[in-house]
Amino acid sequence: MKRNNRDYHYDKTDKKHVMKDSVRRKKSAVHARIKRERQDKKEAEQKALDPESSSDEGDASVDSKPAERAAKPNNGPCCKDTEQVAEKNERMFEEWKHSSPAKIDQGHSYAYELSFWFVCKHRAHMPHFKAFLDLKNIQWFQ
Ligand SMILES: [Zn+2]
Repeated sequence: MKRNNRDYHYDKTDKKHVMKDSVRRKKSAVHARIKRERQDKKEAEQKALDPESSSDEGDASVDSKPAERAAKPNNGPCCKDTEQVAEKNERMFEEWKHSSPAKIDQGHSYAYELSFWFVCKHRAHMPHFKAFLDLKNIQWFQ
C-alpha cells in the first residue's frame, strides 16, 4: 500500500512514521461507512432471497405429502384413498371382463378365473379387487 506522507508524521521517540490522529479518525469513519454499506448490501441480498425462501416453503409442502400419505386411512399398500380404490376396481374389472376369463359352471352361476398374469399384473390391488368382486356377488377362482 502506498503511503501518503501527509497522513503521517515522524515520531522521533518511537523512530517511526505514525498516522496523524485526524487522518486515523477519518479513515476509521470511512471504514465504518464501508462496513455499514456492506451490511446494507447483505441485508438487501437476504431480502432478495426471501421470495426464494418462501418457494422453499412451497417445496416443504410438497415434502409433507409423503407424511400425508403415511397418515392416510389404511386402504392397503396401493391406492391413496377410497376414491382411487373405487376407480382402480372399475378399471381392473373392465380389463378383466375384456380378457374373457375362463369360467366354471357351478350349476346356478359361474365362477370366473383370476388368471395368473392378471393377478401378477395387479398384485398390489388384488386384496381390494377381490373384495370388490365379492361385493358385486361375482364368483371368482384363482
Ligand atoms: Zn389399489
